[in-house]
Amino acid sequence: MPSIKELKQYLETLQNLGIKELYAEAGATPGSTAREEDYSNLDNESHLALLEAKYANCTKCTLAAGRIKFVYGDGNPEAKVMIIGEAPGEQENLMGKPFVGKAGELLDRMIAAIHLDRETVYIANIVKCRPPGNRDPQPEERIACLPYLVEQISIVKPKIILMMGLVAAQTLLATNQSLGNLRQKVHFFEGIPSYVSYHPAALLRNPNWKLPAWEDLKLFYQHYLNLI
Ligand code: SF4
Repeated sequence: MPSIKELKQYLETLQNLGIKELYAEAGATPGSTAREEDYSNLDNESHLALLEAKYANCTKCTLAAGRIKFVYGDGNPEAKVMIIGEAPGEQENLMGKPFVGKAGELLDRMIAAIHLDRETVYIANIVKCRPPGNRDPQPEERIACLPYLVEQISIVKPKIILMMGLVAAQTLLATNQSLGNLRQKVHFFEGIPSYVSYHPAALLRNPNWKLPAWEDLKLFYQHYLNLI
């Protein structure tokens, strides 16, 4: 990671070269900047597809080593609801889609209970490549990958976000609070109302949490109904 001094020197060098327009491309590092690309005439679907292809071979963190498929996101590019999980697991790594396998099937049933489905929501994770052994993504891996998710949120522009699991909640809300403290209240990410609940994989391991998860979904859905 470059120091502030190195970044300043880098920016001064660019200015001396007459380069005045820089853009904060996710993943851009000093030495790899480019003039801003104009995506303004693209619809959300094309824009996301273009970015997915652009980042698919990312090597910004060590998780690239275990990647079979880059898991960018899935669902409706115009969704009012965005669901954010933690990281791809084994099945996601094989298929290139978030929330597949048993946890994905449970997610489908959970959102069906609040009258949503994969066609109406957009789903993404904090990191786009599978951590080895399904361990939690490390802070440096989350930081490296987060610009991709923030960019997705800025394109989709959801009206409300559901953060599933502690990793998603702590990363996006920049907090160390427990899931118990974060549930059952509204938070805001970039001004977007956001709720926190259990990750479906955690519910598969601990069925006792299904009832509180249902309480979370009901609260989330009530707020969602007020927005549409
Ligand atoms: S997890 Fe994210 S930052 Fe790390 S290599 Fe994959 S796409 Fe790049």
